[in-house]
Amino acid sequence: MIDRDISCLSNIGKARAKDFASLGIRTIKDLISFVPRAYEDRRYEKRLSSIHPGDEDRHIYCRIRITGKSSFIAKGRKVFKIDAEDDDQKKLSILAFNREYLERFLISGEEYYISAVINRLDKGRYETSSFEIKRTKEELGIGQILPIYPLTGKLNENTVRQAVRSALLSAEIEDTLPSSFYEAFSLMRRKDAFFSLHFPKDLQQAEMARKSLAFEELFYLELSALRTRGKKENRGKGRETELEKKLISSLPFSLTAAQKDALDEIRSDIESKSRMTRLLQGDVGSGKTLVAYLASLNVIAKKGQCAFMAPTELLAKQHAENAAKLLLPLGIKIAFLSGETKGKERRLLLENLESGNIDILIGTHALFSMDVHFKNLRLAIIDEMHRFGVEQMKELEGKGRNADVLFMTATPIPRTLALTFYANMDISTIKEKPYGRKDIKTYLVSERKREDMFKAIEVEFARSHQAYFVYPRIEETEASDLKAVTSMYEELKKIYPERRSRIIHSKLDEDEKIGILNSFQKGELDYLVSTSVIEVGIDIPKATVIVIEHAERFGLAALHQLRGRVGRSSLASYCFLVYSDQISEDGKERLKIMRNTNDGFLIAEKDLEIRGPGEITGNRQSGFISMKFADLARDYEIIKKAKLAAEEISSSDWGLLNAENTVIRKNLEKTY
Ligand code: ADP
Ligand code: MG
Repeated sequence: MIDRDISCLSNIGKARAKDFASLGIRTIKDLISFVPRAYEDRRYEKRLSSIHPGDEDRHIYCRIRITGKSSFIAKGRKVFKIDAEDDDQKKLSILAFNREYLERFLISGEEYYISAVINRLDKGRYETSSFEIKRTKEELGIGQILPIYPLTGKLNENTVRQAVRSALLSAEIEDTLPSSFYEAFSLMRRKDAFFSLHFPKDLQQAEMARKSLAFEELFYLELSALRTRGKKENRGKGRETELEKKLISSLPFSLTAAQKDALDEIRSDIESKSRMTRLLQGDVGSGKTLVAYLASLNVIAKKGQCAFMAPTELLAKQHAENAAKLLLPLGIKIAFLSGETKGKERRLLLENLESGNIDILIGTHALFSMDVHFKNLRLAIIDEMHRFGVEQMKELEGKGRNADVLFMTATPIPRTLALTFYANMDISTIKEKPYGRKDIKTYLVSERKREDMFKAIEVEFARSHQAYFVYPRIEETEASDLKAVTSMYEELKKIYPERRSRIIHSKLDEDEKIGILNSFQKGELDYLVSTSVIEVGIDIPKATVIVIEHAERFGLAALHQLRGRVGRSSLASYCFLVYSDQISEDGKERLKIMRNTNDGFLIAEKDLEIRGPGEITGNRQSGFISMKFADLARDYEIIKKAKLAAEEISSSDWGLLNAENTVIRKNLEKTY
């Protein structure tokens, strides 16, 4: 049985099983699903003549004949020396330390197979002291492609290969998709796929195998996502509480329709018995944070507590200040917690939290450290969720066992990918901008014409508006002519001798950054010179200009995020994207997209078209689903197919009642 513990395999004892467990491998199924990180192609012999001085890879594997044996003492140790030659009659000296049995095992004149790393190569004489010699080539994997696993700890590749092999032989691997799928989507049968994943005939076969398994994985993911969503229809509406009404009426503006819709969805989630896992996505400045505060009030009105987590201390502080302005007048008790909150202050805060004297706790991921206990945590809000790691998410899972969770992101993901990425979440989208918000005017500026731009910005300074100047690096390096923050800071001082500025980048400590931003916010500074640290969530209404140099270096999504630092009030705002002469045609096209639209969703779609999903999804979290076989960054084609197949099945046979689909029903119940 595929779900049995791996210790049932003959070559795995207690200690081994423990080593495997540290890799997360406990069952036969885990073991055969352990995806090699690479393969070593040993199909063809690699003989001595293929190694040259200075080669990085000095690995050989081939047949050898023993021509002589001797031993000598070096530095007080006995060294056993074997002379051998390969099929080209190239000569190899094999030096063995403490390997007595070899003396008996190796017989002069006989043939063996060797896998070795050549340590020395001098005038056609090859020498190795790190080698393995076997009677048959199978024992060394010669003639095969060998899997290389991502190992840590005590296990070595050979042990794992053997274990995988016996697991494959003992497991009953059944197909998990209807027969018709295998042909329709050119998939390998599941059993073949698992064998080929580990021991493929060639590298194409290995990739075919992985893709087949990825299809299955994605298909079930999509299908279960469709079903969870399907269930949620006829739900009751949540009520707007008095507290919410008070906040709304205290605002100088009214909510946008999109904010209202998102709130309705969230309220009804809070009302319902099942736990909310909802993603609130919307462009920078679309008013997500306000929606989050209203959701908090909904919970607080019902005597619940809220946690509001931001990815950096800086952002968390800003949220706390903002929350204080909006919520303190309503009598809401707010507290701020980060890793910096220590000693007596921390102790007091934690006491108050546990006794229910705090309604909303705002902070960094410190909110979910071991010693933090809420009296009645009902809602956890995670801002800029894609900046958190899976580990931090797990901590959160542990803390707020029953709490509803609202994730927020200002980095929209193209619709095609959203379902896969956020398969385990419901999604609310704010598409509309608050009324009166002007679109940011974006200009593309050639590096040679920066002077005019600098002059134009002076006009904004004269109106006491502020600016950001963004550069890709902190310091100039010899290897590149990219402009850097430190040198541009000096240059800008000469251009604007009257204006006050500061440098801000990730190497400064949090306190210093916060200090700088505070004085920027108070208008004590005219401009900031920065790396992309200001990318996330900084809200300074009087900042109306952002200059991004080497704009072609940034992805569209990043540019859009950066641009979102301005245009946060009713003042007209400007974004200058400065590009270098060497910009490619594609690069230019991409920047034109930025100039032509302010719509983050459209930009995300375009980015996907131009760069493929790799760049977009590469370094960000999915909805915290870990995939074994599928690679969300590379398997866009498979995602599309699996999604279509899941939609097709859902619409033609929702109940999975057709005989053909029984297998899907069974697996859906089992896995999800
Ligand atoms: P996000 O979190 O999506 O970046 P915020 O909630 O921080 O956006 O809102 C950005 C700014 O817009 C804030 O100053 C906020 O007070 C304001 N704002 C929010 N909703 C509206 C609205 N409906 N009309 C006008 N301004 C709004
Ligand atoms: Mg925000």
